[in-house]
Amino acid sequence: MIRKTRLFTPGPTPLLPAAQFAMAAADIHHRTPEFRALYERVLGQLKIFVGTRNDVLLLASSGTGAMEASVSNLTSPGDRVLVLSAGKFGERWESLAKAFGCQVDLVSAPYGDTLSLDEVKKALRPDTRAVFVQATESSTGVRHDVKAIGALLRDSGSEALLIVDAITGLGTTHLDVDAWGIDVIIGGSQKAVMIPPGLAYLSLSDRAWKAAETSKNPRYYFDLRKERKNAQKGESSYTPAVALIAALGAALDYIAGQGGGDLAAGRDALIDNAETCAAMTRAAVKALGLSLFAPAAPSAAATSVLPPEGVDSGVIVKELKRRFAAIITNGQGEMKGKIFRIAHIGLFDYMDTIAIIAALEQVAATSLNLPGFAFGKALAAAQQVYAEQSGQTANVKVAPEMVPA
Ligand SMILES: *Cc1c(COP(=O)(O)O)cnc(C)c1O
Repeated sequence: MIRKTRLFTPGPTPLLPAAQFAMAAADIHHRTPEFRALYERVLGQLKIFVGTRNDVLLLASSGTGAMEASVSNLTSPGDRVLVLSAGKFGERWESLAKAFGCQVDLVSAPYGDTLSLDEVKKALRPDTRAVFVQATESSTGVRHDVKAIGALLRDSGSEALLIVDAITGLGTTHLDVDAWGIDVIIGGSQKAVMIPPGLAYLSLSDRAWKAAETSKNPRYYFDLRKERKNAQKGESSYTPAVALIAALGAALDYIAGQGGGDLAAGRDALIDNAETCAAMTRAAVKALGLSLFAPAAPSAAATSVLPPEGVDSGVIVKELKRRFAAIITNGQGEMKGKIFRIAHIGLFDYMDTIAIIAALEQVAATSLNLPGFAFGKALAAAQQVYAEQSGQTANVKVAPEMVPA
């Protein structure tokens, strides 16, 4: 059979065709009224997509650029900060804060787990200036409880800024940014918004802007104060990634279309979609006889799965690619060979999810030697979840032998 390449990766994610067309047509100069109109429109749409009353800024960089900007703009060398880390992206916060001379306190959780709020509470000090965390830790497939962390900071009277890498959290997690006390929220283009890598976006609360005024770090390309001043005039400080911005506008239009023209409703539909795809996938892998790597607090951005005892997860990654051109991800760093990850963030739907589960059954049949394996068990479990979550249960009949014990 022919093979059609499909990404099932948590960034880059599959591209929206309408966004690709917009990108190809974006032959405009950035110091023109045409660009200013586009930029102002997209910044306004992003504000709704993020769900904040604060301005959203766009940077021509990968997501890590906005992570770095939040450290360099909001801390000063010697500041005490608290990093909450449970995976590779949490570790990135730690490295970044250290690179800018912060004194880093650390609360960590083992890979696959989420953070203990008790430990966070104990680690907070009166002089903690900022708390850094991921909304979803893409390297392990875990969702952290950002709402509870925000409440904990408020209840303990802490003045620390809450800085959230929501690069895979946005579009997969219902976040009430301002109400939860999130001071900085960060997103990236190659994740839920279905366009190529190269743009990061972030918004800052009033408190965060105050901190930006007093930071003693040098800043140039990532000077957020300058970027905000320019953005308010429909300009970017340097040459913007014009084509990606046009693509982003088209993607946000598509997302709004999924909500009947209402972007906030479309974003919520996108989140619910990811939740359903993730729940289908979790049910399917369990029905296959595999275990979830992050069962306690799974994210809807990606599902991480343990291979059978004695099997390198790379075998599953390779076989899915070799036989079906389906690209999933291995574990990162020390998790390489130990887990595989299937994404649900962005442009994945019911059809894609059923397809990857079916392909995984094919790989299981030839390469995994799972006790009790039979074709259709994983698919039946996923179908059941879909029927339940989409309210179509009235006439659901799954063959009794297909229902997982
Ligand atoms: C993708 C991702 C990033 C950013 O990575 P870049 O390669 O710099 O775009 C940061 N945090 C999380 C949780 C991510 O998934």
